[in-house]
Amino acid sequence: MILELEKDLTPEGKAQLIRRLKALRCDCRELPAVEGTQRIGILGKPGPGEEEIGRLPGVQRVVRVTTPYKLAGRQMHPHDTIVRVRDVLVGGENLCVIAGPCAVESLEQALTIGREVKQAGATLFRGGAFKPRTSPYSFQGLEEDGLKILAEVRETLGLPVVTEMTSPSQADLIFKYVDVVQIGARNMQNFELLKCAGRMGKPVLLKRGLAGTIEEWLMSAEYILSEGDGQVILCERGIRTFEPYTRNTLDLSAIPVIKKLTHLPIVIDPSHATGMREKVSPMARAAVAAGADGIMVEVHHDPERALSDGAQSLYPAQFRQLMRDLYVIAPVIGKRLDFTHMERVRTIGRRSREGSGKPRAGFMGRAGSFSHKACLQYFADAVEAVSFHAFRAIFEAIREGGIDYGVIPLENSLSGSIHENYDLLREYDLRILGELPIRITQNLLAVPGAELAGIRRILSHPQGFEQCRRFLSQFDWEQVAVSDTAAAAERVRDAADPGLAAIANQSAAEHYGLHILVPGIEDNPRNFTRFVVVGREPIETRKAAKSSLLCSARNEPGALFSILQVFAEHRINMIKLESRPIPGEPWRYLFYIDVEADLEAPEMAGVRRAVEEKSEFFKLLGCY
Ligand code: PEP
Ligand code: MN
Repeated sequence: MILELEKDLTPEGKAQLIRRLKALRCDCRELPAVEGTQRIGILGKPGPGEEEIGRLPGVQRVVRVTTPYKLAGRQMHPHDTIVRVRDVLVGGENLCVIAGPCAVESLEQALTIGREVKQAGATLFRGGAFKPRTSPYSFQGLEEDGLKILAEVRETLGLPVVTEMTSPSQADLIFKYVDVVQIGARNMQNFELLKCAGRMGKPVLLKRGLAGTIEEWLMSAEYILSEGDGQVILCERGIRTFEPYTRNTLDLSAIPVIKKLTHLPIVIDPSHATGMREKVSPMARAAVAAGADGIMVEVHHDPERALSDGAQSLYPAQFRQLMRDLYVIAPVIGKRLDFTHMERVRTIGRRSREGSGKPRAGFMGRAGSFSHKACLQYFADAVEAVSFHAFRAIFEAIREGGIDYGVIPLENSLSGSIHENYDLLREYDLRILGELPIRITQNLLAVPGAELAGIRRILSHPQGFEQCRRFLSQFDWEQVAVSDTAAAAERVRDAADPGLAAIANQSAAEHYGLHILVPGIEDNPRNFTRFVVVGREPIETRKAAKSSLLCSARNEPGALFSILQVFAEHRINMIKLESRPIPGEPWRYLFYIDVEADLEAPEMAGVRRAVEEKSEFFKLLGCY
């Protein structure tokens, strides 16, 4: 059961309540607060009855948990859990890729594959050291030597490692060498093993059993959660059906089911699910499109000679291609897969602000705005995200040193460039350090209980109205423009009027407790906003793929042509060219140019000089 506590209960009052519950032999846990209400969960069947507990001082209300899995269910934990494995986050906006061989065979094999998968963008390395094989005569794994190799892969490549534990007797060794403890499909209901894994204090990756129902799987997660600290990642790896063509049948419908029932992240293992190399990538792509938080894939550089599961292991080149595909699919469903995230988080981590902890990044609007989403996707929790009410204030705060980075929108695929931010980039001495696309989906949000027929007035950012013109043309609603979409959601919540609605994104709905009356109301689903990160010092060390610049051409024949000619002569691809009037200088124009080249690379010095010489005004905004 869940105890909702009285609003003004002091920490001392809460501690006293917990002491009383313990004295009554209740197994209680502090739960995350929901909309400001503090909560305590009681597991199992408590000694005293519901009424008796409801009368204890500090208890406002007792809520029954209706599912047999308590800690794994959404009643106790409504918000998604994000599992942290060193610098890697699993769940939330992150798409996590776990890759490596089925089994660790040698240091050379593990490092070769580790380098390949890391380069392609995997963030966790997998490899079995204790292999549960169908036949006792098959390769059983290198055991402790295998674990040592995994630890060495982590030290050399910086990828945290995942390995399977097949018996509680391996717990000490596994604890010493690896970062994530995997429970294999065959052991999903090995309850002693689950309890042991829960007590280890490391994240656990729990595979679904070959014949396990979703409820049984969640009950197994419950075993781990009831012992540990909540760090469980679920992994669907195919179930046994009547279909013999593939090794197992991948139950992709488990993804939306799990998303509804539990807050735990889910990853998909298409390798064991299909057992066939050429079926792995299509299933991995489908898993991501269906909303999985990640994939776990077997990769081998020489699968013909692999000691286990060679037939289902991808060649490194296939894995690279899969990663490129996932990179494109991820933003469509609001997730991020980017190849440099870990490096970025580490670099930023090293730049902690003296005395005050994490670096700070400014975004425009309230929590739940698209800018906030972009900030979270780019930095995860490596920075403290700070809300601002004007773009200029973000630039000012970076200049004054109050914050370190800013996340600002630069252009929308439907409505074009955001000139205000180009102007600010021209005015302030900051650089573009990185970019990320965010898919913009708009929804009509209202307070719970409101109906479409009762809506009279809608609030949004002007861009929100602009992007939903076709939908809005069906109604005769009064439109009220506000500073950002999350502000619209906040005002609708505060007004508590069923005649009001906001156009905003799904996170704003979650953030402000609103219901989605109509989802996906934007005119065009291919609606992306390109956000850029601005700051003083570069974050990423890899070679930049792109440069953005501003320039103006002299007032003479062929002036713009001669600038563009420089790029043409050096075979540099131009991906954006836009002109816009220079504010305050009638009939004079500024050009926004993006090229696919690192104009700060030493070999580009000549190109840059030539463009500068041919322009009247020139400013390199950043290479990223
Ligand atoms: C594995 O991932 O190495 C493995 C043995 O998988 P499963 O338990 O899903 O068969
Ligand atoms: Mn395998």
